[in-house]
Amino acid sequence: MIIAPKIRGFICTTAHPEGCAKHVAEQIAVVKSRGLIENGPKRVLVIGSSTGYGLSSRIAAAFGANAATIGVAFERPGEADRPATAGWYNTRAFEQEAAAAGLYARSFNGDAFSDAVKKEVIDAVKADLGQVDLVIYSLASPRRTDPKTGEVYKSVLKPVGESYTNKNLNTTTGVVNEITIEPAEGDDICQTIAVMGGEDWELWTDALLEAGVLAEGCQTVAYSYIGPSMTWPIYKNGTIGKAKEDLERVQRLLDEKLAPLHGKAWVSVNKALVTQASSAIPVVPLYISLLYKVMKDEGTHEDTIEQMDRLLRDRLYKGNPQPDEAGRIRVDDWEMKPQVQDIVAERWAQVDTENFQQLGDFAGYQSSFLRLFGFGLAGVDYSADTDTAVGIPSLDK
Ligand code: NAD
Repeated sequence: MIIAPKIRGFICTTAHPEGCAKHVAEQIAVVKSRGLIENGPKRVLVIGSSTGYGLSSRIAAAFGANAATIGVAFERPGEADRPATAGWYNTRAFEQEAAAAGLYARSFNGDAFSDAVKKEVIDAVKADLGQVDLVIYSLASPRRTDPKTGEVYKSVLKPVGESYTNKNLNTTTGVVNEITIEPAEGDDICQTIAVMGGEDWELWTDALLEAGVLAEGCQTVAYSYIGPSMTWPIYKNGTIGKAKEDLERVQRLLDEKLAPLHGKAWVSVNKALVTQASSAIPVVPLYISLLYKVMKDEGTHEDTIEQMDRLLRDRLYKGNPQPDEAGRIRVDDWEMKPQVQDIVAERWAQVDTENFQQLGDFAGYQSSFLRLFGFGLAGVDYSADTDTAVGIPSLDK
């Protein structure tokens, strides 16, 4: 099949196997060019390992520290006439690269919120690795089925208290218009916390602890975002921000639970970047376009791989995590520098459809988005016939 991007609003419904493999290879090259992470993790579990921050975490651990990795994700395989999701092809490519480098890699494709997947993964840790010394929690999902009650929770991206009006970008056309989002109602906040808060991270940690598969000194990290005040009504102070507050509540709890192992739980606040999850958030893509331009001009732009490499290399495994006043790791530090934010805020006030191409990095936004699905990568022949129904080696065994 010849595969082209098919964009529907903020998602792309196709993905390219060779393009995704190239994207993975490019991330591996970034990590390898920085050399070995000294005293890095050796056995790593990544929950949400197939795209975005989770995939980059897995790559940074494997190719930066030669770690054995187990990844968990929920992706759709391809068929002869229908491409798989990008995360499927990324996982296949990751495993092939890991095998070529002599690194252990095993992947699970299923609902990480379920008891069954937790059990399967823990059995694999026991059988293959004995224990893990780093657990990355990087799920982003619109819904979660409660493993005990079967209730399906749905997360929403809404402000809390009052409606929110701000500038917004149509990421297909480049038109900057205004959007008004009505506030959360009913149990929107509780539902969003149930999906994107800390409950499942705690369930995972409890299950791993109970099985005795967390090593002495084990660290676990979940990801959060804060950002600048113009996005707070929809992010930090919105329904998703309430879920992230809950993540911090659970981080403190997990710190206590891990204390007997001399372990540590962290929330890492990461930079705003184009991922499948972030492109669904209103207002944020316009902010990201302005941010990319400023940070690229300044020479400080990073993508998920540079962020996760820095998290492991400079913070978690250097004895120098530099927590903020709330105990969070801040790899959003370069994004949040006043000299960056002042320019973004100034441009935010001015930006409209006419001047957006000058003030923002629309080309960068669009190319980052397409790359998530394996499109626009150098050296890939997009006119060639491609096998869409390829497997993930460890799932085929
Ligand atoms: P993403 O959409 O790229 O990745 C989500 C991952 O979760 C994928 O691997 C997917 O397969 C997996 N997943 C979803 N539902 C699952 C399920 N039921 N079972 C198993 N796996 C499942 O998202 P991302 O942007 O990388 O987000 C990861 C984390 O990083 C989130 O907590 C997000 O809030 C946080 N974060 C993102 C940004 C950003 O700008 N993108 C910034 C800071 C923090």
